[in-house]
Amino acid sequence: MEYRKLGGSGLKISELSFGSWVTFNKQVDASLAERMFGMCFDAGINFFDNAEGYEAGESEIVMGKALTSLARPRDSYCVSSKVFFGATPGPLPTQMGLSKKHVTEACHQALKRLKVDYLDMYFCHRADPDTPISETVWAMHNLITQGKVLYWGTSEWTAQEIVSAHEFAEKNHLTPPTMEQPQYNLLDRKRFEIEYAPVFEKYQMGSTIWSPLASGALTGKYLKGIPKGSRASLKGYEWLKTSMVESDRGQKRMKKVAQLLPVAEELGVSLSKLAIAWCLLNKNVSTVILGASKTEQLEENLSALDVLPLLTQEIQVKLEI
Ligand code: NDP
Repeated sequence: MEYRKLGGSGLKISELSFGSWVTFNKQVDASLAERMFGMCFDAGINFFDNAEGYEAGESEIVMGKALTSLARPRDSYCVSSKVFFGATPGPLPTQMGLSKKHVTEACHQALKRLKVDYLDMYFCHRADPDTPISETVWAMHNLITQGKVLYWGTSEWTAQEIVSAHEFAEKNHLTPPTMEQPQYNLLDRKRFEIEYAPVFEKYQMGSTIWSPLASGALTGKYLKGIPKGSRASLKGYEWLKTSMVESDRGQKRMKKVAQLLPVAEELGVSLSKLAIAWCLLNKNVSTVILGASKTEQLEENLSALDVLPLLTQEIQVKLEI
């Protein structure tokens, strides 16, 4: 495992990390999470991603139990949370968004659920059009000065919103965002590679990228329908099944996946490993957050690092679809 600097900060995080969206509490309980974390630690992973909105806070509870039970030294790994969507179904107006009140309360609640004294990374899970960016920057800066958060970041903000946060922070001598958490994979490239390029360049932002397998589409397993027990088959994720497989957009994406398969076959590796390794070719990626509902998947995905040296220029051209 290699370690990359989180943008311009001094924090070195593992190039692969592990997240909990959909999986923790729904497919993965605390004891399976503990086994998975053990595999991650053994592989050198030092960053675990979470959010208040995952399974209405239950995902953080599962992660907190598993990490406590493993009892690794707190200074050997990083944990994140994200604020915006709220941790209760049908949140009240004060229980969501990026107001100073909710950013502060959500941090306190995440600390309790995750059973940690501080969050290494705390993300604004989306931009909040109802809250001035200045208020959110102040709220994050205050949490940092209180020692409850070490680095704050954005997730899926527009480049312009990120620039506004930096400009306000700089003008007022406050802490700017250190990292962005965007989607990035072989099917979803534009925002990361084009819109964010000037932001990465100018502000040395780091990135913790999500859905390297496009929720599983880039494993190729949806090409023959929807496998039983897979993410697209889960109750509550019907929207994902539609957008991933059934919609016109989904069908177009599946055609691209089918075009990528022969490249993986040529290399003698699975498409999953190829897709994960490909993300690491981009130097603006600080870490690729893996997702897995089973230990076998995690094992396969961790070995994606072996595929990286196979991704020559020639292969990279073949992946331009
Ligand atoms: P992926 O795109 O890698 O999807 C992971 C899912 O794909 C698994 O849960 C599993 O689903 C399936 N899968 C993974 N590996 C394999 C394999 N080898 N073979 C077959 N199936 C496989 O990542 P995620 O979408 O889970 O995103 C990763 C993390 O990023 C999240 O956990 C979260 O921490 C973060 N994230 C952040 C977001 C944000 O807005 N900031 C949004 C989304 C995610 P199954 O077995 O159920 O089919």
